[in-house]
Amino acid sequence: MPEIRFDTYYRYDDLTRLLHAYAAEYPGLVQITSIGKSYEGRDIWLATVTDFATGPAAEKPALWVDGNIHASEVSPSSACLYFIQQLTAGHGQEPAITNVLDTRAYYICPRINPDGAEWALADVPKIIRSSTRPYPYDEEPVEGLRQEDVDGDGRMLLMRVADPNGGWKISPDEPRLMVRRAPDESGGQYYRILPEGRIDNYDGITIRMQRKKQGLDLNRNFPMGWRTEGEQSGAGPYPASEPEVRAIVDFIAAHPNITGGVAFH
Ligand SMILES: [Zn+2]
Repeated sequence: MPEIRFDTYYRYDDLTRLLHAYAAEYPGLVQITSIGKSYEGRDIWLATVTDFATGPAAEKPALWVDGNIHASEVSPSSACLYFIQQLTAGHGQEPAITNVLDTRAYYICPRINPDGAEWALADVPKIIRSSTRPYPYDEEPVEGLRQEDVDGDGRMLLMRVADPNGGWKISPDEPRLMVRRAPDESGGQYYRILPEGRIDNYDGITIRMQRKKQGLDLNRNFPMGWRTEGEQSGAGPYPASEPEVRAIVDFIAAHPNITGGVAFH
C-alpha cells in the first residue's frame, strides 16, 4: 500500500492511484469500478467494500456513501478514503468491522464531481459551485467582479478598498482584522470589503458579483424534490441531466440491495 495521508486533499490522479491500491492490497475486500464519466470524461470511481468470500456485494444489504459533490468541498473525499481505510484495516482485527463486512456491503463514491474538484485543487485554483459544464448560458460574462487569486499567493481572500463611505475599519487591537464601523461614526479611515478579484467593465460606480459561467449545482439535479431553474438555481434542465448525477441515480436504481445512504457531501 502506498503512503496515504488523511490531512491531504488528493488530486484526481492520486486519488485514482490510491483507490486502486486498496483493491490491489485487499482483493478480497475492495473492488474499484467506474460508475460513469464526468462531463470532462473522468471516471467516477466507486469502491465496493465487503468480504467477497462470504458472498457478492449485490446479495448483501448495502450502505451508499458519497463525497465531494460540490467542487471545492474536497474534504469528504478524504473522509471516504479514511472510511475505506478503517474498514480494510479493521477486517479480521475488530469483531464489529469483521462482522459487518461479512454480512453487509458498502458502496463508497469518494468524488462525485472529479472535474470541479480538479479545478479547486489546481495550482491556480478556480472555485466553482459544482460541475464545470457551462450552465445556463455558454457565453462569457460581460461585467462584474470575477473572483481570482490576484496576488498569486494560492489563496482567494478578501480585499480592503479605502472608501469614506465604507462600513468597515481596521481593528485597533489586531490590524489584520476588520471591525464594523458604528452607524454614527465619522472622521476615520473606512473601507469596503470585496472578494479578491478583478472587475470587468467597471462603470466606476456599481460593483456586482459576476455570475459564474458554471452555474450548475449537482446537489439540486437529483429527481427527488427537483425544481426548475427559477425556483432552484443550478438544478439543471431536467432531473439527472448531468452525467455525474445520472451515474449515481442509475447505480442506485440498479442496486435494490441499498438500504440507506450517507452523503458526506
Ligand atoms: Zn456543498
